Amino acid sequence: MTPFAHVTAGYLVTQAVDLINPSLGFNSPEIIIAGIFGANIIDFDVFLVKKPIEHRNTIFHTLIFWIGIFIFLFIIANFLNNQFITKLFLSFSLGIISHLFLDWYAARGKGVGGIRLLYPYSKKHFAIIIFGLITFLNRSFFLFLKIFR
Ligand SMILES: [Zn+2]
Repeated sequence: MTPFAHVTAGYLVTQAVDLINPSLGFNSPEIIIAGIFGANIIDFDVFLVKKPIEHRNTIFHTLIFWIGIFIFLFIIANFLNNQFITKLFLSFSLGIISHLFLDWYAARGKGVGGIRLLYPYSKKHFAIIIFGLITFLNRSFFLFLKIFR
């Protein structure tokens, strides 16, 4: 996925939360920026590797690392007991989840994309590369649009 796609996803998760429950105030600039930042921080691992293509081999593209960060943020939010900071952490976490989902969903093939779902037990990159299924879902979606437009 490109940084532009991750920025868009980070923005959209905040807007989805705002649609579901507007009283949470997820349409504020600070919350949106936290979501966009979370959706892009994972790819900062591109600065930690020699070849940019290998950036998904770092701990940043693992599920276990971010679950640990979520638990850490949850503990800090509980300790601070500040609603605004809790919302910032939640938006940041949703941005991260959107990044992991997109990297998992949009992998282009073996070795190109995917995330390390089972790290540290396995260094394998997992992705939804069931091309037949994706084609089927995309065609069904566009057929759905044609029928109900
Ligand atoms: Zn990524």
